[in-house]
Amino acid sequence: MPRTPSFPASIDAHALYVGGTTCSPTAKPGVVDIKNLIIKTYGNRWWGIVTSCTARVTEHKEGRALDIAFDATSYTSRKNANDFLYWLLRPDRHGNGNAMARRLGVMYVIWNARMWRAYRPWLGWQPYTGTSNPHKDHIHISLSWRGARRQTSWWTMGGGALPPQPPSSS
Ligand SMILES: [Zn+2]
Repeated sequence: MPRTPSFPASIDAHALYVGGTTCSPTAKPGVVDIKNLIIKTYGNRWWGIVTSCTARVTEHKEGRALDIAFDATSYTSRKNANDFLYWLLRPDRHGNGNAMARRLGVMYVIWNARMWRAYRPWLGWQPYTGTSNPHKDHIHISLSWRGARRQTSWWTMGGGALPPQPPSSS
C-alpha cells in the first residue's frame, strides 16, 4: 500500500459529481501525483491523463482523470489494484470513511466492471455498465477540481506533492 502520512481527524467531504465538459487538456498536478504514487508503490506501467477535447463528457479532457494499467486477468496485477483501492477507500484511524479518497479529492473510480462514486458513497462498489470498456485492463480515477488542483487535505495537511517518476513505458 502507499505510504500514508499521519493526518489529523479533520477531513474533506466526499466529492460531488462535476462532469468534465470544458476543454483544458493539460494534466492537472493532483492527478499527476496520484499517478506517481501508484507507480512508486506498484511499479512503472502505462498510464494516460489527457484526451482530445472532441471527446464526450469526460474528465480526461480537463486533465483531471487518470487511466493506469492493471490487468484484472493477472493474479498479481489484480491483487495490486485491489490493494490500492482498499487503501483508498478504507476508514482511517479517526473513523473517517473512504479517508484517502476524500483527502485526494477522488470523484469516482472504475475498475474491473465495477464503479465507486464519492457522490453516492453509501452504495459502495456497484456494477459498471459502461458501454464500450469494462475497465479490466486499467483503473480509471476522476478527481474533483479541488483534488486536481491539490487543494484537498492530502496536499494541504501532509501528503504533499511527489517527485517525478519515469515516463510511461508505452
Ligand atoms: Zn479513463
